[in-house]
Amino acid sequence: MNTSDKKKTKELAQNLISEITRLSKIAMKENGGRPLRFMEVCGTHTVAIFRGGIRQLLPDSVELVSGPGCPVCVTHDDYMDKAIAYAQRDDVIVTTFGDMLKVPGSKSSLSNEKTKGADIRIVYSPLDSIEIAKENPDKKVIFLAVGFETTAPTAAATVLAAKQQNVNNLFMLSAHKLVPPVLNLLLSDEKTKVDGFILPGHVCVVTGTEEFDFLADKFHLPGVVTGFEPLEILRSLYRLCYQVANKEAKIENEYGSVVKPEGNPQAKAIMSRVYRKSDTSWRGMGEIPLSGLKMQDEFKEYDIENVLPLSLENAKIKKTACRCGEVLQGLIKPMECPLFGKACIPEHAIGPCMVSVEGTCAAWYKYGGGKFVFGK
Ligand code: SF4
Repeated sequence: MNTSDKKKTKELAQNLISEITRLSKIAMKENGGRPLRFMEVCGTHTVAIFRGGIRQLLPDSVELVSGPGCPVCVTHDDYMDKAIAYAQRDDVIVTTFGDMLKVPGSKSSLSNEKTKGADIRIVYSPLDSIEIAKENPDKKVIFLAVGFETTAPTAAATVLAAKQQNVNNLFMLSAHKLVPPVLNLLLSDEKTKVDGFILPGHVCVVTGTEEFDFLADKFHLPGVVTGFEPLEILRSLYRLCYQVANKEAKIENEYGSVVKPEGNPQAKAIMSRVYRKSDTSWRGMGEIPLSGLKMQDEFKEYDIENVLPLSLENAKIKKTACRCGEVLQGLIKPMECPLFGKACIPEHAIGPCMVSVEGTCAAWYKYGGGKFVFGK
């Protein structure tokens, strides 16, 4: 960015902040003096907000809170115990994204098991698992299929490709999750105090904006889909403040270059061919109806829990003072957890919110409340 572009960007940011300040103060007067509270539900937004130093630029009349937007963080302990139990078998290779390695289960982690000799391989796409399966025909290759609507289509495409290529030793341990049902649950709880949402740009590329219309229709709350640059995030905050100050509630799309109201029909078609919606458990939130994806019967031979069922009767969830569940629901900030920055740091994480680079606790710890200032 040259000097003139930097100057222009800084001016645009300052104008947006002035408007955010003006509008949020108007809205605050209307709601009894409480600051406006906006939630982002995407781990990439959480990190982008810190990197841009956006919290430091906002007036006291606007508060940002992170929701359940980090895929690793919302993965339930039971899932980690299953992944570890499969990894301990001699006839299994587990493939996974790297940030799952250090997530604690009830007794161990994949990282520990790898140190002890388990064959656990980091992949950058589920499709990489097909080659690993072909190279190891005497092993069961299990991909840890976690994530939101963003990653589910690629996992589904991997299953279709495996079927087409007659790869019969590749399986999925599925824990995909869907964003709209968890927001619906959060808002149905009176403890949740949110005035609007910065909606997840990557998820909305697949789902479209229409799947989030219920926020406005059912809860009378605004939502703005946006990208990941500081100016884009500031613009979404301006739009949210504008709506609240004007008593509007609608879903706006500030990421129209890639997000369409109907989403991506091809990605949705692949997902619904391979998966069906099912109840699933979220860390700290319990089971949420129809908030996950399970394999359709046609593909059950790729579902490791169907092919090789596990019993985890002996697994007990380790009780710790970790408050990830409340962090994920936006009920507390990470510093309110007694372990934050003491017993729990990225190098020795007690809970998943400190493990993942997109985890809220890790972001608060790394950026110390935001040491970078936009425009400098
Ligand atoms: S700081 Fe650590 S222990 Fe506390 S909520 Fe976050 S991840 Fe859990």
